[in-house]
Amino acid sequence: MTMKVIPLQPKGAAAAGAARAPAPRFAGGPLADTRGRSLRDLRVSVTDRCNFRCTYCMPREVFDAGYRFLPHGAILSFEEIARLARVFVGLGVEKIRLTGGEPLVRRDVHRLIELLSPLGAELTLTTNGSLLGKNAFLLKKAGLNRVTVSLDSLDDATFRAMNDADFPVAKVLEGIEAAEAAGLAPIKINMVVKRGVNDDGILAMAERWRGSGHIVRFIEFMDVGSTNAWRMDDVVPSASVIKRISSVWPVEPVGANYAGEVAERWRYVDGAGEIGVISSVTQAFCSNCNRLRLSTEGSLYTCLFAQSGHDLKSLLRGGASDEEIRNEIAALWQARSDRYSEIRTAETAKARKIEMSYIGG
Ligand code: SAM
Repeated sequence: MTMKVIPLQPKGAAAAGAARAPAPRFAGGPLADTRGRSLRDLRVSVTDRCNFRCTYCMPREVFDAGYRFLPHGAILSFEEIARLARVFVGLGVEKIRLTGGEPLVRRDVHRLIELLSPLGAELTLTTNGSLLGKNAFLLKKAGLNRVTVSLDSLDDATFRAMNDADFPVAKVLEGIEAAEAAGLAPIKINMVVKRGVNDDGILAMAERWRGSGHIVRFIEFMDVGSTNAWRMDDVVPSASVIKRISSVWPVEPVGANYAGEVAERWRYVDGAGEIGVISSVTQAFCSNCNRLRLSTEGSLYTCLFAQSGHDLKSLLRGGASDEEIRNEIAALWQARSDRYSEIRTAETAKARKIEMSYIGG
């Protein structure tokens, strides 16, 4: 008999936010955490639901018919997200990524983009691509700048098994084409590499997107959440991915576009474009992590591997002013000391962490 893992779900937001002392006034100027890292990126999970059941993210045996997703009243409205986003931009956020769960399963997500667009931050969205075909133009029109599409294999049987929703590769490719036609390029294509599952498809993935102008990023399988049965043995180090690709199409490193960029960039020596690797497990990049995550129900997380968050929803719904919210976020960032990937061990990997579908990938 297999034991069912119950994912860690935060306690009610109101309880967390009750009767706390207001944060000290933030005087402005550059915002830095305890390790001197600045705040640049905000990831917003717009839903904890997804129409896929990727085995490494939302395994079906946990996220089944009995799983309690957040009720509608618990999740932030678009107006609430936009209000917080304005405060974040005022604190230095330059890029906002909508994610989830699957952001495109939330109805009318383009309306949120319309609200965020005037803030002036770069707006991106990470999606499994399943609903991109019919949404790409609407998203672009609403003000989305770019899109990242997850696609773990070009082999249909492997992909269907990994998404565990029997979803075909061809439909995701249609979504990518629609995004390109809508002007959301260059598109980033994320492939989570799991040893013995899809690593035999690394070269096919590289070949498919070479010369396309789009950028494939090979992601190390991470110990996010506590339901995906993560084991170090299943991780294919990025160095090995680069070696495999370079043995066929030589690549050379390229400098980061900006400090704190998640993916390490490589370009084909023959000029066929670039690829990226995201090596959270084998080459921790905590030292310049500049990201905050806002969960679907309005809690703020200072690390992808966090065990708890900081409730903002009860401030929002309790009548706090923008300045009070700004002070709260600034104080939280200033106290931040996370560096999980630098201290990961087999033991920490077993800790009960918040699920990625809730916190936002
Ligand atoms: N549903 C959207 C999607 O599929 O892109 C957005 C949310 S998903 C959680 C965001 C990204 O996280 C995807 O590229 C997914 O493959 C990646 N991801 C999820 N679980 C992961 C894990 N355990 N290790 C590495 N990447 C993971």
